Amino acid sequence: MSTNITWHEGSVTREERETLLRQKGLTIWFTGLSASGKSTLASALEQALLHVGVASYRLDGDNIRFGLNKNLGFGPEDRTENIRRIAEVGWVDWAFGSPSALAGNCLVMIFPSLFTSTLHSTLVAITAFISPYREDRDSARKLHEDNGIPFVEVYVDVPLSVVEARDPKGLYKKAKAGEIKEFTGISAPYEEPLKPEVRVRTDEVSVEQGVKMVIDYLVEKGYVAASRFAK
Ligand code: ADP
Repeated sequence: MSTNITWHEGSVTREERETLLRQKGLTIWFTGLSASGKSTLASALEQALLHVGVASYRLDGDNIRFGLNKNLGFGPEDRTENIRRIAEVGWVDWAFGSPSALAGNCLVMIFPSLFTSTLHSTLVAITAFISPYREDRDSARKLHEDNGIPFVEVYVDVPLSVVEARDPKGLYKKAKAGEIKEFTGISAPYEEPLKPEVRVRTDEVSVEQGVKMVIDYLVEKGYVAASRFAK
């Protein structure tokens, strides 16, 4: 725990930054079973937004476990801690300037490469994590909403039979054979979102259609200007 530290106020407010950069900071939170299509959609969405000049940054579940969260396992407590840290990371991008962002600021020191490019910007953060517990997702939502940052939960909703058939990494096969413990959908729970902002059935729509559903929502809410997509 750091002591004898004082929060240094920046001179640019979030509102000023948003006006100057002509974009609004928000988080798009993909949730769903392993192999439901979170990473695929998150990557394609990041591409689509960057191509129309919307600065966005993607945090991926597996990737974050290589660094920031490499000391965490898949038991219930570690999963909760995993999501808590991610929520702080997403949130600190926009809350810079708030004393309560200090918890996130500690992460800056642990994982500087993630933050040097994002901290001073107003970004669209795109996260792709199974995030199986409703309470954890709701905590992430509250952290954002308490600070006036939109939180867009995208439920990548596919039947278990479909992801088991896809099984791109062979994980379901291993989990069913008992080689992976506490695997979401097989031996660990997944709590469906009750009111996601967007729901994408990736067994019914293409990647392009899924991305469009998210973008349509962002435009409808005025988070991204429709003019950016005008042909
Ligand atoms: P997750 O991040 O949820 O674990 P991935 O994106 O890594 O899932 O893998 C999903 C798999 O499903 C990929 O092999 C992808 O090509 C496939 N897939 C098939 N149809 C879709 C779709 N409409 N949207 C997203 N992924 C799809």
